[in-house]
Amino acid sequence: MSTSFQPHRAGDLHFLKRLNRSAILEQIRRTPGLTRADIATQAQLTKATVGGGVQSLLKQGWLREGELQKSNGGRPGRSLYLNDQHYAMLGAEVGVHGLRLVACTLSGELLASHHEHLVPTTPEVTAELLAELLQTLMASPVFAGRHCLGLGIALPGPIDPTTPVLRRAPNLGWRDIRFLELLSPHLPQMTGVWIMDNEAKSAAFGELYFRTGQIPDSLVYVSAGTGIGSGMVEGSHPPLISRGLQGLAGEIGHTVLQPGGLYCHCGNRGCAETLVSGWSIRAALGIAEEENLIEAILPRLHEEQVQLTLRRAGEALGTLLLNLHHTQNPSEIVLGGSLVQLGAPLLDPALAFFNAHQNRLLGTRHQVPLRVIEDSTFIAARGAAAQVLASVIHGPSDLI
Ligand SMILES: [Zn+2]
Repeated sequence: MSTSFQPHRAGDLHFLKRLNRSAILEQIRRTPGLTRADIATQAQLTKATVGGGVQSLLKQGWLREGELQKSNGGRPGRSLYLNDQHYAMLGAEVGVHGLRLVACTLSGELLASHHEHLVPTTPEVTAELLAELLQTLMASPVFAGRHCLGLGIALPGPIDPTTPVLRRAPNLGWRDIRFLELLSPHLPQMTGVWIMDNEAKSAAFGELYFRTGQIPDSLVYVSAGTGIGSGMVEGSHPPLISRGLQGLAGEIGHTVLQPGGLYCHCGNRGCAETLVSGWSIRAALGIAEEENLIEAILPRLHEEQVQLTLRRAGEALGTLLLNLHHTQNPSEIVLGGSLVQLGAPLLDPALAFFNAHQNRLLGTRHQVPLRVIEDSTFIAARGAAAQVLASVIHGPSDLI
């Protein structure tokens, strides 16, 4: 007796067609300009399957046709691109000192954005304010006539991998927050996918997912702001985020660099954040919570104490980069966050330490690509929007 599962034929065919459309869409998303013939070859699908799938995706507003491409032998075919005019995704980051919102196209291009500075407050007040700002963003003319695929929220702490709960945001003093449940009553008209994730994980996802052409196999994003965290994403169809059992994977700010050192906001001593983070630099230099950290420091860069604090913080950051390289070994490291704006006094010692030590173990000359993003204001919000798109393409949505 066969034990294999026999699905219903009609259902099976529908599922298969959807899977093919999702594969076609992913292919064009990653390599814009492909023709139907290119897709058939690369995805190992028949020309008829690709033709039917592309037709549906054009009709549903996912794709647009471009110029006629010459081909070797066969008929010339039209190049295909994502249609950036029909759909949009919303993304928002709840930071310790502000809210950052974006509306973006399928290609990740920002249609509108907003940065609201904020003194840390309660989850309820934050949700209400964020909802108001999202309503304003949706009312902007660039959003008019577009179909919204959903909303992604990036938060500054570990998210439970099984339920949408922010377990702890130590720099906000929040614990066990179901943020989407606080937000949804204020946005009754919002449809589509709702997602929440850790801000560094969202940023890492967006950095890989919106890339076209040469796409790295894996990528680590390091978020150096009020706190310090990281996110690792690898693979495709869709890229997977490392989370660990409790969502702690990548919480590098709370890896201990100095046993018995200063107390951290998490309750342990000597965490990396006690050496390199917005809050520890504030504490060391006496900068109040209400002040903009970067604006307060930049005019003081000539002071010896400022130079020393930033050099020590930079060395700690370099140590974290090196530890990530040896524990995760990603194809690319991306460094962002507000602390990057402090520039050379922080970054030079960090990069010097990383570059001097990254090849000691293997004795190679290969340098891991490390990209510093000078303005990463909207990177986590955009990444959360990318997660919405991936969820629609790979999930059970009836839009594809
Ligand atoms: Zn800690």
